[in-house]
Amino acid sequence: MQKKKMITAALPYANGPVHIGHLAGVYIPADVYARFQRRLGSDVAFICGSDEHGIPITIRAKKEGVTPQDIVDKYHSIIKKSFEDLGISFDEYSRTSSENHKKTSQDFFLKMYEKGKFTEEISEQYYDEQAGEFLADRYIVGTCPNCGNDGAYGDQCEKCGTTLSPSELINPKSALSGNIPILKETKNWYLPLNEYENFLNEWIIEGHKDDWKPNVYGQVKSWLNDGLKPRAMTRDLNWGVQVPLPDAEGKVLYVWFDAPIGYISFTKEWAEKNGKNWKDYWQSNDSDLIHFIGKDNIVFHCIIFPAMMKAHGDYIMPTNVPAFEFLNLENDKISTSRNWAVWAHEYVEEFPGQQDVLRYALLSSAPETKDNNFTWKDFQTKNNSELVGIFGNFINRVAVLVHKYYDGVIPTGNENAEELSEISKTAKEINEYLSKYEFRNALSALMNLARFGNQYLQTEEPWKTIKDQPEKAANSLFVGAQIAVGLAQLCEPFMPFSSEKLLNMFNTEKISWQEVENAKVLVKTGHQINESSLLFSKIEDETIDFQIQKLENTKQSNAKTNPKANPMKEEITFDDFTKIDLRTATILEAEKVEKADKLLKLKVDTGVDVRTVVSGIAESFTPEEIIGKQVMILLNLAPRKIRGIESQGMLLLTTKPDGKLSFVTPDETVENGIEIG
Ligand SMILES: [Zn+2]
Repeated sequence: MQKKKMITAALPYANGPVHIGHLAGVYIPADVYARFQRRLGSDVAFICGSDEHGIPITIRAKKEGVTPQDIVDKYHSIIKKSFEDLGISFDEYSRTSSENHKKTSQDFFLKMYEKGKFTEEISEQYYDEQAGEFLADRYIVGTCPNCGNDGAYGDQCEKCGTTLSPSELINPKSALSGNIPILKETKNWYLPLNEYENFLNEWIIEGHKDDWKPNVYGQVKSWLNDGLKPRAMTRDLNWGVQVPLPDAEGKVLYVWFDAPIGYISFTKEWAEKNGKNWKDYWQSNDSDLIHFIGKDNIVFHCIIFPAMMKAHGDYIMPTNVPAFEFLNLENDKISTSRNWAVWAHEYVEEFPGQQDVLRYALLSSAPETKDNNFTWKDFQTKNNSELVGIFGNFINRVAVLVHKYYDGVIPTGNENAEELSEISKTAKEINEYLSKYEFRNALSALMNLARFGNQYLQTEEPWKTIKDQPEKAANSLFVGAQIAVGLAQLCEPFMPFSSEKLLNMFNTEKISWQEVENAKVLVKTGHQINESSLLFSKIEDETIDFQIQKLENTKQSNAKTNPKANPMKEEITFDDFTKIDLRTATILEAEKVEKADKLLKLKVDTGVDVRTVVSGIAESFTPEEIIGKQVMILLNLAPRKIRGIESQGMLLLTTKPDGKLSFVTPDETVENGIEIG
């Protein structure tokens, strides 16, 4: 009996639209696989949904001045529509903010809790006093202890890829307010991953050495070699699924605890609507669980989620986790925040009716084993030379000639012609490649059949033989029509829109993959075909130039903004601003402060008075070079004692790229005591 296929695709974060990197690295391959399994006759559940929890969403909401719910509502519908438009054939596309998901994740947590699978730990976590919130994961930024990147997050440095905890960051700052956080005690529930090392070693390292992709296997192995540590499964946050325990107010499940459970809750929703039992797909050995993900999610799908399922006790382990590497765009990393991307919803609008071109182009450069690159020029070439020049050209010639010579009726030909075996051979090849998750090879096999057909017609030249060898011409077009219908059948997982058009053009129905593998003749002599229409059309240079220009514009506008700038501080009113007394002033005297390398003691003429200011500028200036310099001073700052000296005010300074300080000064010398504002 065919096993059930429980196929999941990584849940997209509902804090932005979907781009070609997501499509090439997860959704299109997953869709090809799901469609192919359905054609094999497998009982498939292809499940996905928007991940609506997690800190990127709350941060985006704060930035845009709206609620997290506004953000997820907006992007959930954009993402869902993009998938539909591109033919991603999910059986269910739901969202983690649903009641059902909340209950499913809470039940999962409680079952683990009741079995004693968590440890409770009180730890000191960073806390933003101004915002009144604990700072988990992306709420905290600082310098990476590994590579020195000063924009590292509390859970990961995106520059070097190291996993971090907030306490490892150097100079941590709150991403909410820019303030330096304090440490505060809090209780959380941890999953002791170290206790699952033996199980993971046995299951993956010993059990899947040969059938899992080397990039996935290798990453898991290196995690296990380094040793696993307990990991907090709850967070002090207010956006997410509440921890279902009485003493857990203000705490939610860690987003990577609840997100993968989304696969389960969405399967439940689908099963409910379709009279199925979700447990047959998740808790039965007659089911294969397959997770399609990007490489950044390997640890969650190969270590944390399996450990959770193991701890829970009722679940099967994934059969395979075919993770993809990353797709770059025009040789640069795709980035949502830098808007360096080709957005799915924009593509659909700008290339109407050309969804399959994108599917084809992305699949043929899918980052299967290493990072790969998408360029618009390459996209154009793939369309014009391969889809139009080979695939479309072949099918068009067959259809046009069958209409021209035989009034659209398939002529008589040799049902045992040798060339016909190419169809079943291709079907078997694609089957073999897809069962190993080799999508590019599978697509090449399909294109090779189109190439074969094209060459066959070129050699046979029915447009010439029709005059004095009509039987030969009829046979050529009979064979040609079989190959064309073979392509119509076999291209469906890859290019579903074109497949539907083609099947309609040849007036025939979709059949199972096995039938294509076993058949020689797919349309009989005497079969009437429908009007032919063009399958693909040439993409002109102007269209491509427009897209390249769009990216160029993005690059230019990015250059104008500084990605390293700290987020804006809390808004103040105009009244707040008028309380600040800024003046022009001149430095009269400067001397070093004893035993303090950074400090200079200054005498400053503020126009109002002459006062003492202690300033941390000794590493950037010698006393001599600043005497006589005009500066700006914050005059009404409450006096503070620094190293026993009362400092009355603060000079305005900025930091140069080399880390040295420089004074903010008026661009020409003016009188002292002039108000700034
Ligand atoms: Zn780093």
